[in-house]
Amino acid sequence: MKVTYVCDICGLPQETIEIEEVDMEKLGLNTLTSREKEDIIKYNESQGLILYTLCSNCFSEKVFPEGEGTYIF
Ligand SMILES: [Zn+2]
Repeated sequence: MKVTYVCDICGLPQETIEIEEVDMEKLGLNTLTSREKEDIIKYNESQGLILYTLCSNCFSEKVFPEGEGTYIF
């Protein structure tokens, strides 16, 4: 299935990858609580599984100054 990473702040798609099956462990999602998963994982017909992440621009601009928030890459 298709997995698209979208920046959580600017909304720009980062990359789309094709995976045979969703492996939460490989995606680094197995450590998240189910509530965190609901927050960051969405499904969309055209883009497949949507994973919210941060692009490098937003990461350096937003995350470091505030120093809070949990994001996956
Ligand atoms: Zn961004």
